[in-house]
Amino acid sequence: MQDCIFCKIVKGEIPSTKLYEDEDFLIFENINPTTKYHYLAIVKEHFATLAEMNEHQAELLGKLLAKIPTLSEVLHLENGYRLVMNQIGATGNDAKQEVMHLHIHIHSGQEM
Ligand code: 5GP
Ligand code: ZN
Repeated sequence: MQDCIFCKIVKGEIPSTKLYEDEDFLIFENINPTTKYHYLAIVKEHFATLAEMNEHQAELLGKLLAKIPTLSEVLHLENGYRLVMNQIGATGNDAKQEVMHLHIHIHSGQEM
């Protein structure tokens, strides 16, 4: 996707601080953290929401969710953590999803 910020981060056109990367996934620091540690985990392949996700993308998302706890030390997950996915809906954006490339917020390092 040409104008997608996270696709540009994947391509290296926008710099980011990366915690984990492989062929399918990227986990990087949120530029505007709201907790002590605040990372964003994405499937590199562009899709906007859970509602738009195809079967292949759902499989990748499942793998990404399974990957996160294996990075416990890197992501500071030892004492518990919170995952958040804001989703725009068909008729509104109550959850205020800003970036239309599906992402998982990973919050850690403090009591929520
Ligand atoms: P959303 O509201 O869509 O769930 O969250 C989007 C998140 O992306 C926000 O927390 C925001 O701080 C983060 N973000 C937006 N632009 C950039 C960027 O260019 N780099 C990084 N690292 N994070 C960004
Ligand atoms: Zn994208």
